[in-house]
Amino acid sequence: MEYSGIGYDLHRLVEGRKLMIGGVEVPFDKGSQGHSDGDVLAHALCDAILGAASLGDIGTHFLDSDPKWKGASSLIFLEHVAKMLADRRLRVVHVDAIVICERPKLGPHFPAMRAALGKALGLATDQINLKAKTNEGVDAVGRGEAIAAHAIATVRQH
Ligand code: MG
Repeated sequence: MEYSGIGYDLHRLVEGRKLMIGGVEVPFDKGSQGHSDGDVLAHALCDAILGAASLGDIGTHFLDSDPKWKGASSLIFLEHVAKMLADRRLRVVHVDAIVICERPKLGPHFPAMRAALGKALGLATDQINLKAKTNEGVDAVGRGEAIAAHAIATVRQH
């Protein structure tokens, strides 16, 4: 059997923070606000995978009040989620995601992100598809005040 799940996340972009996306630091003058490293793509993927496995959401498993996760790499969340699935004889077979921000350009960083995400999830890079969009200048994302991500995951029972 195969199952699918969706994920969404948004983080404010602020000065004085690194911009971590898909486990990669993207050079930019702002970064994602958040308790962990604020990796919007990793968080959306976590929720998509947890959804496909009927395991709730990222907030249930990684409390944002827990000092253990302060500044943590969100790749740890993905590794943990992959292990939770393995314990239930489930595995991720494919993920697809859209990252939305006005700047910077993300396409050049996708190969590194796919490699980092693949390592965390135990997937080959061709099982991870990433897409970048702008918000055409509309709303907070369009004004460069925030970054958002949508994701979908397909999980198989074996
Ligand atoms: Mg988040």
